[in-house]
Amino acid sequence: MMRVEFLGGVRTVTGSATLLEKGSLRWLVDCGMFQGGKELEQRNRNVEPYRPRDLSFILLTHAHIDHSGLIPKLVKEGFQGKVICTKATLDLCEVMLKDSGHIQEMETEWQNRKSKRSGGNGATPLYTIQDVEKSLPYFQTVGYDEMLSLADGVKVRFQDAGHILGSALIELWIEEGGREKKLVFSGDLGSSGQPIVRDPSWVKEGDVLWLESTYGNRLHKSREETVQELLRIVQEAIKHQAKVVIPAFAVERTQDIIYTLGQSIKKGSIPSIPIYIDSPLAISATEIFKRNSDCFDQETKALLSGGKNPLAFPEIIYTQKTEESKAINEDTRPGIIVSASGMCEAGRIQHHLKHHLWREDSHIVIIGYQAEGTIGRRIVDGAKTVRLFGEEIAVKAHIHTLGGFSAHADQKGLLEWLSHLNNPELEVFVNHGEEKISMELSELIRQRFHLKTIVPQWREKRVLLGPEEAEAPQRVMPEKEPLEEEREKISPSVERLSVLFRHLDRNYKRLRRKLKKGKARGIESHDSRWVKQLEEINERLEKLESELE
Ligand SMILES: [Zn+2]
Ligand SMILES: [Zn+2]
Repeated sequence: MMRVEFLGGVRTVTGSATLLEKGSLRWLVDCGMFQGGKELEQRNRNVEPYRPRDLSFILLTHAHIDHSGLIPKLVKEGFQGKVICTKATLDLCEVMLKDSGHIQEMETEWQNRKSKRSGGNGATPLYTIQDVEKSLPYFQTVGYDEMLSLADGVKVRFQDAGHILGSALIELWIEEGGREKKLVFSGDLGSSGQPIVRDPSWVKEGDVLWLESTYGNRLHKSREETVQELLRIVQEAIKHQAKVVIPAFAVERTQDIIYTLGQSIKKGSIPSIPIYIDSPLAISATEIFKRNSDCFDQETKALLSGGKNPLAFPEIIYTQKTEESKAINEDTRPGIIVSASGMCEAGRIQHHLKHHLWREDSHIVIIGYQAEGTIGRRIVDGAKTVRLFGEEIAVKAHIHTLGGFSAHADQKGLLEWLSHLNNPELEVFVNHGEEKISMELSELIRQRFHLKTIVPQWREKRVLLGPEEAEAPQRVMPEKEPLEEEREKISPSVERLSVLFRHLDRNYKRLRRKLKKGKARGIESHDSRWVKQLEEINERLEKLESELE
């Protein structure tokens, strides 16, 4: 029997984790940290539902903390299996998890100082840098497109998800009792046309899909428009001798911005001005990018082979030390400050926000997703003040939100990617999105593709392959499958009808089976509502039939 439990990243964007069980074999796809408010973050503390000791492996889609951030915690609680990911993901995890461990240590220290003053007990960090170091030996790398056998009847393949360096979507083939099911995990899907990384790979076959929905209800502006908007903001800042502050995720967004600004200076679209990259993590990540150029797209590879490194040019100032970081605020020239964390929850960006939020001439440019409950989200939502370092800071700067730099596909991108998956029986779990957004995308997929969609609940369990699932009738084939060459000529509405016929057939048979099997025994005596509904369906069918005549 094959079971699934949704441990995170459902009805929220953080904490991605899916538990899969096949007999006694248990493993996870992603193991992310929850972020955005106390209640949600409490889940990071109790990893009992993961049963870390009994897990054989963790398949990791990419290095972002909302997918990898709980791995050290699981190792601390007894996980001894393998963490399987691409090489670039491992390189990035090394710096990102250490950074996360550092943040955990610092935050606990700060909390403890505060709680000691009020006589409270000391808290312990979720995990430390040392815990991260102990976790790294469990990582094992896999190449894109490589087929890997994990256990008897379990095979896996990683393909490029085009989201960040090393990011992958995961295909899993599970065999049980002579039947096979293919599961597909989209991971975080990139938007096509992003610089540096390649476009997401398409998947054509699958039985069950986990589809992210971060921007499931939104359309990004085109990249070109977004770049123009950013350049206008920079020019405006230069005119007023002001600064542009960009909170950016250390991985991918920062390198994307470096790339874009570098190319714009080269073309003369903006004058040469200082661009501070004030995030030690972003600096390490940029180094890792340079080491993993095999993951780059054609355009970036071409620049590199022409002797031009798009991530290094004279205007870029990397500030590693704290003193260098502080000195940025003494530089009175107009300039750009790119700093992490991307959602303004921690890191040096908080210092820059404290310096600039209250200045009317400053510009704050939000380029990444801001989860509910974060400081970044409050700024985007128009808060008049935000609390930083125990102080209320007025928000008077110009606040801009630029969607086109997103590392996530928008609604159109998600649907387009899904359209390549050619199976009318596909079941879709819509995850990695705020509840309302996942629901919207789920509905849209149902309407457009006539697929079965589910927005899972946290801790919900389901059987994917086994006796319960086997109750579902065998797939009903249409009366005649059009030949490959005929397919071209068939109009979309006719194709839609044929899909509808199949679904109608399937639903009718399923309903009959359930009624027959006695699941609905005692309908009459217990619930006349069902009888009434069946009568209505019958009437409607008869009416439709007579209309067609
Ligand atoms: Zn991500
Ligand atoms: Zn994510």
